[in-house]
Amino acid sequence: MKVSVIGASGRVGKAAAFCLAEESVVGKIVLLSREKSLDKIQGETLDMNDALAAKDIRVSITPSSNFEDMADSKIVIIAAGVPRTPEMTRMDLAIPNAKIVAKYAKLVAKYAPESIILVITNPVDVMTYVAHKASGFPRNRVIGLGNHLDSLRLKNIFAKQFNIHVSEIHTRIIGEHGDHMVLLLSSTSIGGIMFKDFSQYQSFDVDGIIEKVKNAGSYVIDKKGATEYGPAYAVSNIVKTILNDEKRILTLTTYLDGEIYGTSDVCLGVPVKLGKNGVERIIKLNMSDDELESFRLAADYVKSSADEVMSIIKEEIDLY
Ligand code: NAP
Repeated sequence: MKVSVIGASGRVGKAAAFCLAEESVVGKIVLLSREKSLDKIQGETLDMNDALAAKDIRVSITPSSNFEDMADSKIVIIAAGVPRTPEMTRMDLAIPNAKIVAKYAKLVAKYAPESIILVITNPVDVMTYVAHKASGFPRNRVIGLGNHLDSLRLKNIFAKQFNIHVSEIHTRIIGEHGDHMVLLLSSTSIGGIMFKDFSQYQSFDVDGIIEKVKNAGSYVIDKKGATEYGPAYAVSNIVKTILNDEKRILTLTTYLDGEIYGTSDVCLGVPVKLGKNGVERIIKLNMSDDELESFRLAADYVKSSADEVMSIIKEEIDLY
C-alpha cells in the first residue's frame, strides 16, 4: 500500500518515512518536498535504499516535488512546518504552520481524495482542526499524532518508576499535546491491575509526572535539536494499525462532536479505535472530577486557539 510524506526533508518526515519502509504492509512511499529540498530527499532516498538492501527489504521510495504524485495514497502524512525552538511554545507556531497545513490539506483533497490525513505538525491539535476544515474530509479521515507519543513517554516513566516491563503498562495522556495534557490515572493499569488498587496510588505525584511528560519533547530538542525516533515510531504504529486494519485503541487527535462529556467542535487527543477507515469509534471515558476539569480546560484552550488561527488564516487562504 502507498503512503506519502509531505515535508519529507524534515527530521520527523524522513525518520517516519524510514521507519515505514521497514513495515511489510507499506509497498510504496512518496517523499514530497518543496522544489528547493528535492536534492535533499533524492539523497535521503538513495541512503534509505542502501540501508534497506542490507535488510533485504524491497519497497519503492520516490522523491518528488510534484504533489500529484501522492495520488492513490492510502495515508498522507503532513510533517511540514516550522519546528519549535527551545524557547517557543507550540502555540507560537500556530499561525505560520496553519498556513502551511491548510495549503497541503487542500492539495491532499485534490490529488488523494480518498486518503487518510495524518497530521504531525505542531500545535498538532489545532493543525488537525485546520486540516479537517481545509480538506473537507470526513472527520474519521483526519487524524493528529496527538497524545500517542505523550502516552508512550508516560508508559516509559511508569515502567522505570516501578521497574516493570513497558508492555505491562496501560496508561494514557489525553487532551492537548501541550501544556493542557491530562493524565488518565483513573484508567491506568499495570499488569492488568488497576493502578487505583496499588498502595502507591494515594501518594502518586500526578503533577510531577505530567510536568515530566510535558517537558519531554523540549528536553530532547534542547539536547539534540529535534525529536526524531519517538515521533517516527509513533507514526509508524498509527500507519500500520490503519493499513493492517488492526482496530487498536490509540490516543490520537480527532474531531469531537459531543462524544466525550459533550465536548464539541474541537480536535483533541482521546482514545480512538483505529482501523482501515481511520477513526472508527471514539471511546467514551469515565474521568475523575479532577481529570474532567483538566480536560475541559484543554478543550477551551485548544478551541479558542483554533478559532483565533482560523479567523486569521481565512483572510489569506480560501479554506472551503
Ligand atoms: P524540520 O526538520 O525543520 O522539517 C520541517 C519541514 O517542513 C522542512 O524540512 C520542510 O520540508 C517543511 N517546511 C518548512 N518550512 C516550510 C514552509 N514555509 N512551507 C512549506 N514547508 C515548509 O522540522 P521537524 O523537526 O521535522 O518537525 C516538523 C513538524 O513536526 C514541526 O511542526 C514539529 O513541531 C512537529 N512535531 C510534532 C510532533 C508531535 O508529537 N505531534 C513531534 C515532533 C515534531 P520540505 O523542505 O521537504 O518541503
